[in-house]
This record gives sequence, structure tokens and C-alpha cells, in this order.
Amino acid sequence: MSDLDKLKSASISKRFHQTWANTFRCKPDRYVQPSTIDEIQAVVRQAQKQKRTVMLTGSGHSPSDMTMTSDWVMNLDKFKQAVSFKPHHSGKFTDVTVEAGIRIFQLNEILAKRGLAIQNLGSISDQSIAGIISTGTHGASAYHGLVSQQIVNLTIMIASGELITCSPTENPILFRAAMLSLGKLGIIVYATIRTVPSYTIHSCQEVITFDQLFKLWPTLWTSSEFVRVWWFPYTRKCILWRANKSNKPLSPPRPSWYGTWVGRKFYEALLWFAVNLYPAATPGIEKWVFNQQYGKTVTYENGGSEAVQGSVDGLNMDCLFSQFVNEWGMPLSSGLDVLEQLESAINKAALNDEFYVHAPIEVRCSNTTSSGSLTDDVEDIIDPNTSDISQKGAIPGNNLKPLLDITPELSYTANQDEITNDNLTLYINATMYRPFGFNSPVGKWYRIFEDIVYAVGGKPHWAKNFIGTLDVEPTYDGQMQGLKPTMDEWYGENLQTWKSLRRKYDPDGVFLSGKEWAVRNGLVDEDE
Ligand SMILES: Cc1cc2nc3c(=O)[nH]c(=O)nc-3n(C[C@H](O)[C@H](O)[C@H](O)COP(=O)(O)OP(=O)(O)OC[C@H]3O[C@@H](n4cnc5c(N)ncnc54)[C@H](O)[C@@H]3O)c2cc1C
Repeated sequence: MSDLDKLKSASISKRFHQTWANTFRCKPDRYVQPSTIDEIQAVVRQAQKQKRTVMLTGSGHSPSDMTMTSDWVMNLDKFKQAVSFKPHHSGKFTDVTVEAGIRIFQLNEILAKRGLAIQNLGSISDQSIAGIISTGTHGASAYHGLVSQQIVNLTIMIASGELITCSPTENPILFRAAMLSLGKLGIIVYATIRTVPSYTIHSCQEVITFDQLFKLWPTLWTSSEFVRVWWFPYTRKCILWRANKSNKPLSPPRPSWYGTWVGRKFYEALLWFAVNLYPAATPGIEKWVFNQQYGKTVTYENGGSEAVQGSVDGLNMDCLFSQFVNEWGMPLSSGLDVLEQLESAINKAALNDEFYVHAPIEVRCSNTTSSGSLTDDVEDIIDPNTSDISQKGAIPGNNLKPLLDITPELSYTANQDEITNDNLTLYINATMYRPFGFNSPVGKWYRIFEDIVYAVGGKPHWAKNFIGTLDVEPTYDGQMQGLKPTMDEWYGENLQTWKSLRRKYDPDGVFLSGKEWAVRNGLVDEDE
């Protein structure tokens, strides 16, 4: 079969490509879903020959317009097999190589059948493995880095159709570029992920006040392996969720009010009312919904409400409705100052009827400090005397920071018992729902939010709805303006290295689809 025939057979009649939240939508000229490496190669060669560009997309869960294009879209949903399982002699981990279109929930299922699990997850498992790697997806743990820290090696198809493998020891610079490449470097076709024996998650959920959060802050983040704080500004309360690996029998979490059809639709209807008819009702609605959802959750003083869940159910969460999300990473040491400023801005805005925010505002952390070690020899970090569940944190697949990692440079400690707040990145995620698909106004809130987090050295999560540092007159509310003015200052030499690798492996710009997005964010020069 010729390349052209393979291109035709991989093409499907999908007219539109949109984000999961339907925040952005485009009409690509061609939509391809190859199912073999041969087909992927043929598409790339045809794109090169026909001077077309290829936009890669996984599950479309990046909330921003980063995957929008009018040219070709390639989606690897049909390229999703597990290729090999390589158990380590210690029995402590297994390296699993997969085709990179596999969704995380599909991988979770394959692993569960073999008694294995992913070590750390974000809030959902809908994404493709290539997608979570490419945007720097993270979870909520002082003992884990980005989800991509579990990656042992990657195979990239570059614009010529050639395959290049990279790892901490083989092409390490390419590996650092590819671990957060935003689809602009080449196609991640295979990924090897370090998995561990299955575990359950023993969690405790408590209602705490905003003031208690401040008191607990110095020791909160390292008090359990996984910690999430959901802040509900108008109630001045937070949900504190803490969890550790366990081998306890399953016991379900308390029922969720908005987990029911009626609760969910009712909440969405209330938000619709506030967004479209009466914004000043938002604080009252948020307080009422908080009571329905968490009213009976036990408080910090009473010991919280406990659950034991499988690792996926425990680490994932219900993200409710279509939404805008604007998440920035910053040093955790600046957290209390930032939260105080955000609270004051939110209250002032409500008082002046300027804008209202939705809840929860998610507050999480990760440990992305890295030894920078090139070795893939893990013998020294596996303690044969430690049981799998008492080993807090990752058996990392790599110890390298992606070149475009948004998290601050902080001091690294090899000893898990010595991790403190000074080693941690704080992520604050400002969610604004789109009830029944109606946009909430976000522009004023996101501008103030970004000014506050930018001032403490924050940088935005690549996949999300940041407005950015480029000061142009917005043509619509919440328009993503771009990061161009600050990119050199933020990423310095790492950005130059990433750009030169991008040009080296894709000299004709096959992966420069959505170029406007890449230019306004300073990743690509206008004349490239
Ligand atoms: C409800 C919800 C919850 C979320 N929770 C979290 C969270 O807890 N933590 C967090 O950090 N993020 C979170 N995210 C963001 C999400 O994890 C990322 O946006 C992720 O990249 C989405 O993966 P995807 O497969 O949908 O990729 P897409 O959104 O389709 O694409 C993302 C990027 O990957 C590139 N890409 C896709 N496939 C390939 C490939 N094969 N090779 C090279 N590049 C490729 C694309 O070009 C694009 O640049 C959440 C998003 C949503 C909507």
C-alpha cells in the first residue's frame, strides 16, 4: 500500500475537533486516526510531501486552544496496545511499554488485571498517556513529581518519519524536551511507564476553616503521601483530603450529593441562574451547595470521614461540569501570602459586584525537584526492607526535569523524611464552570488571579486557560493572550535548547500546526 493509500485509510470523517469542555472547536482539513506505526509514518511523510501540518491530540482534555487547527489533526486513540511488561527482579516495580495513544483509564484496566497500578495520577484518567506527558500533568503529593516522572523512556517519531528513542541515559536532552513538548517536537509513539504493585488508598476527608488551613500549613503538605485542599472562598471553609497507600479492605467514601443525578443537575441549574441572570447570587449558592455536599462531613476536630478505595478511584475525583481552569505553579513557601491576597480580592470583588468565583479553588502540591541524575539504575532507591505500601512516594522512572517544566527551581533532597515545604511547588487552580455550556465571565477574575501568582514567581500550567503576560486588548472575555514577553526570562537557556531541538527534528514545520498559539506563547518565532 502506498503512503497516500495509508493516509486515506487512516482518515476518518470527523468534521470538528473540540476540547472536552467544548471551550474551543475547529474544523480541521483532515482527521486521521492511524492504528499502526506504519500508518503514522505514512501520514507524517504525506504531510511533509503535501506541505501540511499535523496537530496531535489525545482525549482533548487540555482546556485551552492549544490543539486547534484548520490543517490536519492526528489522534492515536486506535494506537493503544500494551507492548511489553518488564518486571524488576526486586518485585517492586514493572516497566510497561505502551502505544502512546492509550488512555490512562485503559492502561489502568490492563494494569489492574496484572496486579499493577500507576504510582501517581492527576484528577482524572481520561487523558492519553502522550497527552499527560506533553503538558506536564501533575497530581497532589509532596512525594511525587509530575506524572511524567514515572516515564522511563519515550520513542518519538520526528518529522522525517524516523523513530528516536530517548531516556535519562539515551539522548537525555531530547528526553527533557519531549517530556513536555506540547505536540510541537514530534509524535510520542511509545512510552514506558514505571508501575508498582496494586495498592489501595486510605483517605481521610475533613472540613476545616480557612484559618485552620493557615495554622496547619507548615506541616500539612508532608503529613500524608497525597494531600488535596479544596478552598470554598465564600464559606471560608476548605475540604482537606489526605491519603496514604494501604492494604486495608475497601470501604466506600461517604455519599456525594452532587454525585447524584438530581444533585448534579440542581447545582448546575443554580450556577446557570447565577451566571446568566443574577451573578450576586453566587456566594449564597456556593454556601448552600457546600452544605448539601459536605454538611455531614466530619470536621478536623472530629477526625474526618475515612474511606479505602482502589488507587484510581482514590486519586481521581469528580470534576463536575464543563469548565475553564486557570492553574499556576509557584513556590509553596509563597502560598499563605497568595491565598490571603486572593481572598481579599475575591471579597472585594463581591462587595463591589465586580465578579464572582466558583468553587472549589484547588490547592495542591508536587515535588518536582530533581537529582538531575542521568542514571537509570534504581537499585539505590529501592529499600528491600520497606514494604510496597510504606514506601512513600515514587520509584521514579526518571530524575530529569522537562525543559519547559513550569515549576520553580527548588532545593532537592534525596531523603523522603527530610522533605519540607521549601522543596515543594504549590499549584492553585481557579475553576470557573460553564453550566449547561454557558460561559461564565472569567476575564476580570483571571487577570487579578494571574497578577497575584505572577508576582511570587508563578508560571501557568501549559494546558489551561491562562490569559498570560502579553498585553493586548482582548477581543472576548478571558481571551488567552499569550506568554511571549516573559518566556525568555522564565525559561532562559532551556527554552533556547527546546527551540533548537524543535527546529532540528522538524526543520519544515510539520508539527507547527496551531502556529499562532505557539508564537503568542513564545515557543516558536514568527518567521519560522
Ligand atoms: C477535568 C480535567 C481534569 C484535569 N486534571 C488535571 C490534573 O489533575 N493535573 C494536571 O496537571 N492537569 C489536569 N488536567 C489537564 C490534562 O491532564 C492535560 O490537559 C492533558 O494534556 C490532557 O491529555 P489529552 O490526552 O486530552 O491531550 P490533549 O489535550 O489532546 O493534548 C495535549 C497536548 O499533548 C499533545 N499531544 C497529544 N498526543 C501527542 C502525541 N502522541 N505526541 C506528542 N504530543 C501529543 C497535543 O498536541 C497537545 O499539545 C485536567 C483536565 C481536565 C479537563
